[in-house]
Amino acid sequence: MNAIVTLRDIERSYGEPPVRACAGVSLTIERGELVAIVGPSGSGKSTLLNLIGTLDRPTAGTALIDGVDVASLDDAGLSALRAYRIGFVFQQFHLADGVSALDNVADGLLYSGAPRRERRERAREALERVGLGHRTSHRPHELSGGERQRVAIARAVVGDPPLLLADEPTGNLDSEAGAVIVELLHELNRQGTTVVVITHDEGIAASLPRRIAVRDGRVLSDSGMAA
Ligand code: ADP
Ligand code: MG
Repeated sequence: MNAIVTLRDIERSYGEPPVRACAGVSLTIERGELVAIVGPSGSGKSTLLNLIGTLDRPTAGTALIDGVDVASLDDAGLSALRAYRIGFVFQQFHLADGVSALDNVADGLLYSGAPRRERRERAREALERVGLGHRTSHRPHELSGGERQRVAIARAVVGDPPLLLADEPTGNLDSEAGAVIVELLHELNRQGTTVVVITHDEGIAASLPRRIAVRDGRVLSDSGMAA
């Protein structure tokens, strides 16, 4: 088995009376896949992505991420798993204001303990990978939305994680800037990163090789691995 994500009967409830945001999901994602999770607002997409990303723990079921059982790790262990194995991209970019693109990306390596000079060198390479080698000293407010999201992607992949998770990465972008981001996700996937992307954009979903549709916290359909 070469799975990077294995979920077995995963559930996640919130509040009292409980809302079952994830109501029994089983799925496997193999290394090298590019997967869309699609569904309407409130269907449980972010909950599912947060469980895959170990930002949240299931209330029932088993989650294996890169071969590690999430339940076997304490919070520090989960932080380390995330730091080395998972990159995150969000709709709202989450960049630090007043900090250059280079240092925003370099901060993605803080956990590694690498010296600042090495972090910045790797950050420069990551910005080149996303086509922003000429914007390293720009601060977020000096960049377009699409450029900001590319900086966020550079930060997510600067440590070369095997798994990249993106929650509505084009949600704040016009369709042209969004298309650049989707193409970049394809390119990172071709270079070997497993990518899982949440989208409610049917056009984007249709361009990805595997689509998992969710409704009411369950998998409604799964197109399966591309041949
Ligand atoms: P989506 O990303 O598809 O819009 P979410 O996973 O964010 O959906 O939410 C699924 C359901 O779970 C929604 O009904 C939402 O209100 C609920 N939910 C999500 N997170 C929480 C939380 N932290 N506390 C309470 N309810 C939550
Ligand atoms: Mg969401």
